[in-house]
Amino acid sequence: MPWRKPWVDPRMDADGPALREKLERRAYEVWISEIMLQQTRVAVVIDYWNRWMEKWPTIHELAAASGDDVLAAWRGLGYYSRATRIHDAAKLVCEDLAMKGLLPSSVDTLVAKVPGVGRYTAGAISAIVFGKAAPMVDGNVLRVLSRQLGLLGDVKRDKPVIDLLWAAADSLVKAVAETSCEECSYDEKISSATGEQISDRPGRWGQALMELGSTVCTPKPDCEACPISTSCRAYGEGLQLASTRGLAPKNMKTDLNTKPLPDIEESCDFCKPFEEVALNGDEGDAEIVPLSKKTSASRSKARPRIRRQATLSAFFAQSSESKETTDSVPDKLTPAGVATIVDHARKFPVKVVKKAVKEQETLVCAIRRSDGCYVIHRRPQKGLLAGLWEFPSWIVPEDYENMATAYQQAAELHASAVLDPTLKLKSLTHPKLKYVGKLGSVPWLFSHLKLTMHVFLFEIKCSQNEYDTLPSTDDRWSGSIEAESMGTGMRKCWDLVREVNGD
Ligand code: SF4
Repeated sequence: MPWRKPWVDPRMDADGPALREKLERRAYEVWISEIMLQQTRVAVVIDYWNRWMEKWPTIHELAAASGDDVLAAWRGLGYYSRATRIHDAAKLVCEDLAMKGLLPSSVDTLVAKVPGVGRYTAGAISAIVFGKAAPMVDGNVLRVLSRQLGLLGDVKRDKPVIDLLWAAADSLVKAVAETSCEECSYDEKISSATGEQISDRPGRWGQALMELGSTVCTPKPDCEACPISTSCRAYGEGLQLASTRGLAPKNMKTDLNTKPLPDIEESCDFCKPFEEVALNGDEGDAEIVPLSKKTSASRSKARPRIRRQATLSAFFAQSSESKETTDSVPDKLTPAGVATIVDHARKFPVKVVKKAVKEQETLVCAIRRSDGCYVIHRRPQKGLLAGLWEFPSWIVPEDYENMATAYQQAAELHASAVLDPTLKLKSLTHPKLKYVGKLGSVPWLFSHLKLTMHVFLFEIKCSQNEYDTLPSTDDRWSGSIEAESMGTGMRKCWDLVREVNGD
């Protein structure tokens, strides 16, 4: 990953300005990489990041760039308001007399002073660049920590759970920063200008944890390959479960289960209960049934499933299945035992049922002038596709008549109103506007919205300069659509127009 570079060790640059310049560049590089990584996968980010750094190698060059150029460089990454916020923040950081282009080193100051920088990005900059013991917790790290701690909670929306995991990450990185490593001569701690102990350990630790979450402790974890399975509560519980089922040796231990794992559920307010519980055996003890496990009809009849609060002790109760297999205890963890552990770990964190994605239709009006220019419209500076250009578009109301003629009529009215807004009130079409046809529909999926864009082409017959100035300041003519900062979905609409033009 091109943004991974050796730590800038302050001792290596006695010359203040040279050190400042290095820190300024590293902070800028890490900042951009972290924001991009929140958008998409590492493999995709690499190209974007390289192109970005080639275009604007320093924060000062980014601050001097045009807003449209920044949006164009972000095209395809989504959440365009983030690009605008980065640009605004770069200008602010460069103009600020205290910062003068150098991002602050402390998490609190970063969050307070730099727009768009939250505690995750601030933690990454503070730890990776400035060597401070700051936690950096992304979605992958939340998953790793929820499994390490055996915290069965909603790590996306449950604030106390999220705060607890952040606190755990904070304690961990502080402990890591404090621990000296005898083999490592390069990470000895030094004091920063403010007297804080700094080293490259916090940054390396944070990045290692994130990488573990993205490569090993994934939603379906590879627990066998995990370097920290011995400290993992979910692993320990899974191993104990495998052992009770006769799928692992009785003497297999992790750091956690040298003794039987204590049942802490009674004293823990954070964990959600394991909800799927079935009576198991004559004694009436309970077994957690994995959510995906289908019990046969006959078994369901004999042992009716009940839903009630399960406790961890119930979870590890000896099942009748395990009693049958106790006589043949394996001498090593069996593949079925590994699967049991992985299945158990996968329960962490709690899966959140996604809300249904809203559906929406828009009528996209490509209005072409005799000289080949098209009307384009700038979207609002906030919200979806903020600040990007598009062909004038009209959102179809939910209860709108779903008929081709109704859509065509609505598109004609919208295109007419672009040229003369008074026409819309009178439901009149513009006399010089000619409807060419519907070119097709482009489906486009955002994280929260399923959009269908119906593309209509119009021509306006007018003499040169007749409609040079459009009524809305958000509209203008463009003779080079390719160069405009448009979202990827709108570009697909443009592809339909180009096909008709024979380009
Ligand atoms: S042992 Fe498994 S669940 Fe635990 S941290 Fe490692 S990969 Fe994740």
